[in-house]
Amino acid sequence: MIAHNQHQQHNTWLTQSLIHDLSLLDTFDIFTDGSWSETGPAWDHITHNSPTYTGSAGLVIISRADNWMDLPIITLHIYNGPDINAISAYSMELLSIITALHILTITNTTCTIYTDCQAVVKKITKLQQTNTATRANTSDATLLTAAIQHLKSRGQLQSVKGHPERTQSDETLWTREMWGNHLADKAAAGSLTKSYYQYNDNSPFTFYINSLPSLDAPTLTPLLSPPNFWYFGKIGGQYTSRSLIDSVHHNRLTTYLQTRDQYRQRANQPPLWQTLNIPLASTLWQLTTNSTSRSLCNRLLFDKHWHGRNQAKAIDDPALHALISKCPLCVQPDSAQHWITQCNHPRAIDIRKSTIIKLRQQIADAVKSLPAYTSSIQYFGTSYLSLVTGPNIVPDIWRGLWTASQLDSFRTSYYQYIPPLLINSLKKLFLQLGQILTSSCITIWTARQKTIYEL
Ligand SMILES: [Zn+2]
Repeated sequence: MIAHNQHQQHNTWLTQSLIHDLSLLDTFDIFTDGSWSETGPAWDHITHNSPTYTGSAGLVIISRADNWMDLPIITLHIYNGPDINAISAYSMELLSIITALHILTITNTTCTIYTDCQAVVKKITKLQQTNTATRANTSDATLLTAAIQHLKSRGQLQSVKGHPERTQSDETLWTREMWGNHLADKAAAGSLTKSYYQYNDNSPFTFYINSLPSLDAPTLTPLLSPPNFWYFGKIGGQYTSRSLIDSVHHNRLTTYLQTRDQYRQRANQPPLWQTLNIPLASTLWQLTTNSTSRSLCNRLLFDKHWHGRNQAKAIDDPALHALISKCPLCVQPDSAQHWITQCNHPRAIDIRKSTIIKLRQQIADAVKSLPAYTSSIQYFGTSYLSLVTGPNIVPDIWRGLWTASQLDSFRTSYYQYIPPLLINSLKKLFLQLGQILTSSCITIWTARQKTIYEL
């Protein structure tokens, strides 16, 4: 929806005590940071099975005075990033910057905002210089536009190197910027909860921390809007990181899948389309990168092509229906399932055989590149192959169509620990195997069309 910020400057999340504390710092700078990480079972991330993430933002306000180390350091932690549809740390970095800018707008002051996210600084600078509006397909368009609007009147961005502890282990040599970045990282992690901070037990410095109550990202976002700001957001006015185009696609896809299932219901079939993981299928068909064959891929994926079963749907005459619903290459009833996994025409059989060889090869390659986890990778590979060829065959998997419970079938227990190296290897292998299957569907379909043509 399109929302409008009608909040005037006095209607704000900033408390009077914070405004008072800020005034005690006299002039100050703000250090910001965002964090993003995977949560929940590792298998959900390996198989794209509605994986969960945690995303947060942190702000640290430090005085510009020479004795800044002796003055309180104000910190803020913002949580619940995924609830504004964020998909990476980038959105969290932006959120922390907008929160900082909003503090400046409310307190009618200015400062330098330090961030270690170069990508955000580059993007905002580019938009400022070209003076162009964000496009409908830009993610985080609302956050970006709000940032630019704020920056017109106050504040400036500066990038700093992240993680000073990695380049200088002796913290007594750190500059104010290095401390600011380090503390912003801690604030984003939500770990500055005490009234003081000491880098380690031996550190000669102790900072006074004025930690503000943590804030929930979706609740906070509508309040961060510059005055008179029109933006694209959620029903409640919360920001969304999703681009306008993505939101439209998302809603259209939901409606489309519901409609397909309504047709099934009329034919007394259980719902199917809404149970399938379509974003995963789209990744496995490489729909966003594969523009040349996109329309064919779409038809095969959504089973909208002209095979016998689909042709027969419109025909009422029983004899004609029976004839047309048969596979043109054999006597079996035709369907996506049939031509992909069952049809006995020799070309299809050959393609299926070579597909299985490719799958086995990919699994062997994964084992070769991570021999320490041979048995785990092989166990996964065997489970995968049993879904592809039997005994637990699920024909839809060839078309990249998985249900949540099928994706969950690789997991042996809820709390199964999987080392990060193995997670990455399985993530890659899962996509590679799925892509081999979808490209085989194209090959089988093309061979079938060719065979029909030659009849
Ligand atoms: Zn057939």
